[in-house]
Amino acid sequence: MATRIPLERIRNIGISAHIDSGKTTLTERILFYTGRIHRIHEVRGKDGVGAKMDSMDLEREKGITIQSAATYCVWKGSQEHLEDHNINIIDTPGHVDFTIEVERALRVLDGAILVLDSGKGVQSQSITVDKQMKRYHVPRIAFVNKMDNPGANYERVAAMLKEKLGHHPVMLQVPIGAEDRFEGIIDAITGRAYYFDGDNGEKIRITDPPAELAARTKEARQEIIQQVADVDDTLAEKFLNEEPVSDEELRAAVRRGTLSLKMTPVMCGTAFRNKGVQLLLDAVTFYLPNPTEVTNQAHDQDNQEALVTLDSDFNKPFIGLAFKLQQDKYGQLTYFRVYQGTIRNGDTIINTSNQQRKVRVPRMFRMHSEEREEIELAQAGDIVALYGVEASSGETFTDGKVNYTLTSMHVPAAVISLAVAPKDRAGEANFSKALNRFTKEDPTFRVHQDEESGQTIVSGMGELHLDIYMERMRREYNCDVVAGKPQVAYRETISQRSDIAYTHKKQTGGSGQFARVCGHMEPLPADAVETYEFVDEIVGGAIPREFIPACDKGFKEATKKGSMIGFPIVGVRCVINDGQFHAVDSSEQAFRTAALMGFREAYSGSKPIVLEPVMKVEVEAPREFQGAIVGQVNQRRGVILDTVSDENVTVVAEVPLNTMFGYSTDLRSATQGKGNFTMEFARYSPVPKQEQDEMVKKHKEKLAAEAAARK
Ligand code: GDP
Repeated sequence: MATRIPLERIRNIGISAHIDSGKTTLTERILFYTGRIHRIHEVRGKDGVGAKMDSMDLEREKGITIQSAATYCVWKGSQEHLEDHNINIIDTPGHVDFTIEVERALRVLDGAILVLDSGKGVQSQSITVDKQMKRYHVPRIAFVNKMDNPGANYERVAAMLKEKLGHHPVMLQVPIGAEDRFEGIIDAITGRAYYFDGDNGEKIRITDPPAELAARTKEARQEIIQQVADVDDTLAEKFLNEEPVSDEELRAAVRRGTLSLKMTPVMCGTAFRNKGVQLLLDAVTFYLPNPTEVTNQAHDQDNQEALVTLDSDFNKPFIGLAFKLQQDKYGQLTYFRVYQGTIRNGDTIINTSNQQRKVRVPRMFRMHSEEREEIELAQAGDIVALYGVEASSGETFTDGKVNYTLTSMHVPAAVISLAVAPKDRAGEANFSKALNRFTKEDPTFRVHQDEESGQTIVSGMGELHLDIYMERMRREYNCDVVAGKPQVAYRETISQRSDIAYTHKKQTGGSGQFARVCGHMEPLPADAVETYEFVDEIVGGAIPREFIPACDKGFKEATKKGSMIGFPIVGVRCVINDGQFHAVDSSEQAFRTAALMGFREAYSGSKPIVLEPVMKVEVEAPREFQGAIVGQVNQRRGVILDTVSDENVTVVAEVPLNTMFGYSTDLRSATQGKGNFTMEFARYSPVPKQEQDEMVKKHKEKLAAEAAARK
């Protein structure tokens, strides 16, 4: 076995970017310079191979990366005296439809590179991901890519980091030339100029800065000291006393500032033209944290979920998180991040998130994009892939010495659903196999059976989200799917209190049924976490204890389908305070029915309303299209929250999901293909009265038609 790189020289990082800013190209270059691949394939390149990280066909075609696999590589440093570092790149998906994957990936990585387009700067997608990174306390380095492009502006992008993301950006470099005359980069800390020669920029040439940039280089170093001194006391002291600062001291201060999220180093280059990537890799090793510098916590299940801090100690009990499942040509792969202890081939580990299930570790691998390397053991800080381990994403495993689970993650509500079925009977087996796997991979992708129609309904975070899975079904499972029209996940709720008083009485042959349930329903507070609450205020045994849970069950059943439009009812509290029973004829079943019917009867008196998912939409296009964009948003019942314009305009709005179907086509035609947008769930909000009346009417007609058909 190869000698192990010490923990201090491991980096687990993600690369996040707005679509098209060059994440794939940059990743490809990183794999090339670290020797993981031996030829560069351009994204959507002519050689038809496609960049390596986009390993799924579908991604290649759509040009977006939706899987968060991990790739292992070793960076030897741009210069002789630097030490080897192991860099694990966790591929963070960019599209917001896949927020859950972004969040899961962020949990696993310790630091990140934020790729920005030198012309467009901080774009909407970066804002979303950056917010999440801040939440998970992930230190970042900004990489201003495409410095070779017309309009490239390193300073302006750095300024945008401050304006739009609230960062404290510190520019560590001075570009040599710009646009098509972008030649190289000066490291302002060392004051040395770097040029990238050879076919792929692999030969690094280090010289003095060009004469015309000598003064600027000195100035830039002074600016770094001044800005870092703002966030670092040690450096501040030296700065105030006007003492000289060595390169090492300055780097150490930048590192402290970055790790504490008080500043963001800003670097530049062009991935496509092979300039600056090696310096970025050096910076990853200089400024981003190693696994021992990150605090990870778990919940102790044996001690009321008390938080415990984990320790990257190889000798402590093993704790790992399954963060990604993937099917490859050899079988089912589970990606693990080891947080504590050591795991070996043949060990038995225990799934503490799922009924203490025991699993034997069969074979472990380090994944290099598509190739793999078998390993004997993995230790705290490592990211590895295991074959044949039954798990769902997000589950915690231990060696059984502790009963910890890593924090569970917030799973957002699904906002859209689709009725799906295999096109022919031959596809049935694969159809259920695929659905089974997708739900395991992605908790925001849900499947259920509609009780009445018997249809299989899938639901998720957006149209594209569901589209991708249907497409994967076709490609990976060879199963053609017929899908219905996407259906918005509406909800019903009540707007006022209403009394419940219902007697269920039935005499059939011998024993009868009798139960009376009284109480009321009322709206839950708007900020309530639960969507349903049951309160038992019965005193004096008007309903015997043993029948109380049946009342709860009956109400709950009633909330599954509201009478307005047939969608689930949320935000309701059901209170019982009185009732009657019969010594012989009362039963659980009778009370359940009484509660169910009582709820239904009282429901109309509670002024029910229909809720719809409202999305936060960000549209971006050249400024001349501002009028058209605003018009389209208004037409879709959208409310504009913010408009920012320079040469591009960004419109931020809240728009009902129901009106967003077909928006991408409309936007494209209104902006000559130059507009793009992102969308994420914001909240549920009441549907306007007129719309609601229309929906209720349609639902009634549908029910009537169904009833007629049954006759
Ligand atoms: P991603 O969507 O962020 O993964 O971006 P890609 O890596 O797919 O790049 C989007 C487009 O920008 C592709 O056509 C790349 O060739 C191009 N590109 C990437 N990096 C650079 C760069 O440094 N300079 C220029 N001019 N183009 C680049």
